[in-house]
Amino acid sequence: MKWIGLLGCTLALFSIVAAKPAGDVKDPVPAAPAPQDPTHLPKKVQIYRLVVNSFWEVNCFILAGETNQAIVIDPGDELEWMKSDPVAPKNDKYRATEAHAKLIYDTLVQKKLKLQYIILTHGHVDHIGAIGYLKKRTGATIMMHADDAKTGYAKDAHMYEGGLPKVDRMLKDGELISLDGMVLQVIHTPGHSPGGICLRTRKGDTPYLFSGDTLLYHSVGRTNFKDGSGNEELLYKNIREKLFTLPENTVVLTGHYQFSTIGEEKKNNPFLNPQLLDQYIYPPAQQPDDKPKTPAAEPVAPVK
Ligand SMILES: [Zn+2]
Repeated sequence: MKWIGLLGCTLALFSIVAAKPAGDVKDPVPAAPAPQDPTHLPKKVQIYRLVVNSFWEVNCFILAGETNQAIVIDPGDELEWMKSDPVAPKNDKYRATEAHAKLIYDTLVQKKLKLQYIILTHGHVDHIGAIGYLKKRTGATIMMHADDAKTGYAKDAHMYEGGLPKVDRMLKDGELISLDGMVLQVIHTPGHSPGGICLRTRKGDTPYLFSGDTLLYHSVGRTNFKDGSGNEELLYKNIREKLFTLPENTVVLTGHYQFSTIGEEKKNNPFLNPQLLDQYIYPPAQQPDDKPKTPAAEPVAPVK
């Protein structure tokens, strides 16, 4: 359609130019070609989802490239809360049980995938538990945005028994991550955490967004952290300006729970549509002529 439109405009331009006296005519500047979308997942690529961390139900993704090179996004693990110091809870630590780290690793082995990149959408404790286990066994390059590497991730590293491996590559807004025919683009979306990112890509005609905790199904990542690392206004601004401008059919692969699309969230996410919040929080206002409704008695199915 774009090309037909462009052709139409070009023809219109020529007919205007042709009507002018020859002396005034300058060569029309050729229109710059539309920039190509660099993101890409080859047809053969599979995206697998593993639910890790039973308490928070984190979505961990495995992307398998053309020749079985793999990317893992948000490798969370089953965690144990070590209640070591009831007087000073700050000194408490998490211990990664490795139950879900093993699940991720075994999936890679079973599918004959070679893990090359581990990408963290952000540094919060529920998304990173398996990182030490995977790094030790695969030597994969760990990537995240610098603003979380220095803050959330570093902070949580102290909370982890045994610490966390260092980040190998700091990601920047707009940067492309390429591996084995796959190209993902980094979108920096601070708000839930300072270095929170989303990753955009597409397969055929379907655009995908790995949204971490920036955008969830009918929800968003929390911002009310005690350490002040969250920023509610910034989160909404980034979602509106950087995510809601993506095509509506973009499949949103969220950091927790069920998936969504950009179109669905634009329409029905109550945090981005405050008028919808009433439906979630308050019962609908009763109109004066509304009579209280008694639910009709339902027949009970006969017990066999
Ligand atoms: Zn999370």
